[in-house]
Amino acid sequence: MNAQEVLNALGVPAAAVTGGSLKVRSPIDGAPLGAVHEATPAQMSEAVARAHDAFLQWRTVPAPKRGELVRLFGEELRANKAALARLVSLEAGKVSSEGEGEVQEMIDICDFAVGQSRQLHGLTIASERPGHRMMEQYLPLGVVGIISAFNFPVAVWAWNAALALVAGDSCIWKPSEKTPLTALATQALFEKAVAAFVAQGGKAPAHLSQVLNGRAAVGEAMVDDHRVALVSATGSTRMGRAVGPRVAARFGRCLLELGGNNAIIVTPSADLDLAVRGILFGAYGTAGQRCTTTRRVIAHASIHDELVARLDRARAQLKIGDPTVAGHLIGPLIDAAAFDAMQQALADARVQGGEVSGGGRALAEQYPDAWYAVPALVRMPAQTEVVKRETFAPVLYTLKYETLEQAIALQNDVPQGLSSAIFTNDVREAEAFMSASGSDCGIANVNIGTSGAEIGGAFGGEKETGGGRESGSDAWKAYMRRTTNTVNYSRELPLAQGVKFDI
Ligand code: NAD
Repeated sequence: MNAQEVLNALGVPAAAVTGGSLKVRSPIDGAPLGAVHEATPAQMSEAVARAHDAFLQWRTVPAPKRGELVRLFGEELRANKAALARLVSLEAGKVSSEGEGEVQEMIDICDFAVGQSRQLHGLTIASERPGHRMMEQYLPLGVVGIISAFNFPVAVWAWNAALALVAGDSCIWKPSEKTPLTALATQALFEKAVAAFVAQGGKAPAHLSQVLNGRAAVGEAMVDDHRVALVSATGSTRMGRAVGPRVAARFGRCLLELGGNNAIIVTPSADLDLAVRGILFGAYGTAGQRCTTTRRVIAHASIHDELVARLDRARAQLKIGDPTVAGHLIGPLIDAAAFDAMQQALADARVQGGEVSGGGRALAEQYPDAWYAVPALVRMPAQTEVVKRETFAPVLYTLKYETLEQAIALQNDVPQGLSSAIFTNDVREAEAFMSASGSDCGIANVNIGTSGAEIGGAFGGEKETGGGRESGSDAWKAYMRRTTNTVNYSRELPLAQGVKFDI
């Protein structure tokens, strides 16, 4: 199926993807996929008003009933998994199994959120005053604004929206300007779920979830609107640096999921077969375009040369090509700017002492309007400036260490703090890596790579990654407001801390 057929199958009207100013091209071959209408800041303001009205109604619907809507949405995703996954591949350039994995992740978070809808629990707390009880409640927060990146064009929205909806919030989505079609398709499926919910007697207000396409200016209009209670923004650290202070200036709530610079430490006791597989997928899967992509390998001096030689051989054999064709593991970069940034990083690495394998353009004759890159491996003498910055492309830097303390120090000595891993069979090393003086990242794995998280755990990272946590564990609390209630069921009015105010 081509993009137009997929969009039709998913219920997106042709008018929504033609005649607009936002031109969409497939990174697979540069072919035009559509021309989407861009919202104006004024339209964003109107959408926020509608979302706020929707919130006022939705917050009164019991949470398990809200969960039923999310369950129905999960059913729509199951029924349309293949079509939506194909659109993800066509628009974002992911290999087919990763496109399917992305939609599966949406289904998983819907399942998770349905269960959570019966577990939005607070605490009952002992009061120091006789005949009193304290408790806390989690209540719906308001309008949740979601800004998403091109590389997970739909899953990251679902992480936010599924939890926000069971929490009693309404959502507005500003997708990446590079992937508006998958957003429109997801919205069409959500609207089908709303119709099914209403048909079975559920009460869902209009405009519970809205999509507004456009570039940064549309996102900025959302960010600055005081009626948006939470801005959940996924993208580059540059974007987070712009968004965070603006939301803070109006005392809004912000959840930031920004860039990563993830390392794998490989120790002398590691199972090298396992490590090679984990590193290859981590570094080169999704053509290096995941926030959790493995960008650095820090290997013990005793095994470094063997490990790096094996990685380099395997790297050179990775099949590059149309990601929708079975057997291809490396699809295209999203655009020419991504390819240029990769070439700049490799040039900088050479100047900084790096020895580069691979890294050039691939398939240029077959796809003159697309940007396929040969995965690169760069042996670095030290963790120089280029290694410390995130280059969103398949570039893996390798470094040597002598002591585990050194390895952990190198791993932590970057501005970002998203994901990390150690390959070791030594329980002391594994525990040290996960301890208070170990990895400083939000994700610290043992004997698996840095990417490919499951939705059950909280996802996010420290430092320039922004500090946000999404998805599993208690991430749902970000989408609710907490109130503390003290109830006096006595006939006295004692004050706390023994304070007297007797008339
Ligand atoms: P990007 O920062 O260019 O764009 C992300 C989104 O932010 C887009 O929707 C864009 O329109 C919007 N945006 C940009 N500037 C804005 C502004 N000033 N105000 C409001 N909105 C603005 O990122 P990208 O190239 O789409 O994605 C790649 C980046 O995203 C990488 O750095 C990657 O590590 C990061 N990422 C992080 C996570 C995570 O969970 N930590 C997940 C996916 C991607």
